[in-house]
Amino acid sequence: MRELKVYNTLTRKKETFVPVTPGQVKMYVCGITPYNHSHMGNARPFVTWDVIKRYLEHLGYEVTHIQNFTDVDDKIINAANGEGVTWDTISNRYIASYFEVMDKLHIRRADKYPRVSEHMDEIIHMVQTLIDKGYAYVIDHDVYYSVEKFNDYGELSGRSLDDMMAGARIEVDDRKHNPMDFALWKGAKPGEPSWDSPWGKGRPGWHIECSAMSNKYLGDTFDFHGGGSDLIFPHHENEIAQSEAFTGKKPMVKYWLHNGFITINSEKMSKSLNNFFLVKDVLEHYSPDALRFFLISNHYRSPLDFSDERLEEMTRSLERLGTAIDNVLELLAMPAGAKSPEAQQLLETAHKDEEAFENAMCDDFNTALASAAMFDLAKNVNIFKNAVVNNGVPVDSAALSEVKRVFKTFTDILGILEDRWTGKKEDASSKDYDDLMQAILDIRQECRAQKQYALADAIRDKLAALGITIEDSPQGARWKK
Ligand SMILES: [Zn+2]
Repeated sequence: MRELKVYNTLTRKKETFVPVTPGQVKMYVCGITPYNHSHMGNARPFVTWDVIKRYLEHLGYEVTHIQNFTDVDDKIINAANGEGVTWDTISNRYIASYFEVMDKLHIRRADKYPRVSEHMDEIIHMVQTLIDKGYAYVIDHDVYYSVEKFNDYGELSGRSLDDMMAGARIEVDDRKHNPMDFALWKGAKPGEPSWDSPWGKGRPGWHIECSAMSNKYLGDTFDFHGGGSDLIFPHHENEIAQSEAFTGKKPMVKYWLHNGFITINSEKMSKSLNNFFLVKDVLEHYSPDALRFFLISNHYRSPLDFSDERLEEMTRSLERLGTAIDNVLELLAMPAGAKSPEAQQLLETAHKDEEAFENAMCDDFNTALASAAMFDLAKNVNIFKNAVVNNGVPVDSAALSEVKRVFKTFTDILGILEDRWTGKKEDASSKDYDDLMQAILDIRQECRAQKQYALADAIRDKLAALGITIEDSPQGARWKK
């Protein structure tokens, strides 16, 4: 297996990936809080992690992917109260909306999408264990995590507790032992959903769910944890504190990967486009492939600037790639010919591009560089097609099949132009076409058998007028367009 390097936020350097269990990858990605339709900032991590997952599977790993829905949250409760509906009406609506747009973006589904509301037992067990072990304390009906008790607090974000307190806006709550202590459990307030617990009715704090659910589905130590870089602190820092204190094992996660922000050309967007920034609205203007390709057009850790120009550029780029795919398929449909220096050269460049693509992806999933290799291949396919059409270079179909394999591997890993390869519509209609033509040939054969030659010839002439030639041979009639 190729050596894969990933940038680990925890160690702040690129490291060689070594899975906890050989051949397997366990990954947890922080999911959405479903209180509104997914916005572009939501889409970036999910497309990023979908490509990472596809690539890990391409390398031969068996991947387990868990992604939560934070379906108990202030924002959901506020939205529910605003509309006069129950909290789960809101969360179910926007979870459905999430799947609708993410499916359009060809994001393969996770193995499981655990919800907070369905994991209260695990959460309460974890909170109680943290209290029992001395990492958490109860005040009234609330439970807080005591950050001073966890020696490594700050290791992920690279800050000491003193730095954090100096830099942070901290809510004033005299009851807490340390201002940085965070809630594991919040006592119920009127008008809020609540669950029974040893500390009275209430609901979990935000961070505990990801610790409880990742532990349940992936174990004490797993390979990857992902999310936007805005989650490093406090969310992921707190997850480590909770999980490692709970299990007594280190590390909770071997490799922490975080994607960069999406910035927008704000002047341009602000005119009308607060809504436009929702994924579903962007998809009214651009194809899912264009949006997906845009989201992986930069390295995942780099910022990404959204603009109409970029999306239009992506649309044009995809069309160039699509044309090259069409050319591969057309060449393969032509009669097979002998080897040629031109075909040999195409094959060699395809293998060089494949090497470049793999090297880029193995270097912390550098999709931008990998795409460059794909464009190089597309360019060379088009050059070869011209040589076939204009100079009569024969189609070496063995070489072309190999070029197709390489090209399709690229687009499959990036998750773009899937329909172009299957040519679904064309395939379906050409199958129908074949069946229809066979039926006509059968009728014509029947005419001939019954000595109705005039009618058989009329069928042939009508087809000829449509550009379809019939050739009679001892094996029966054949047609070609
Ligand atoms: Zn999380």
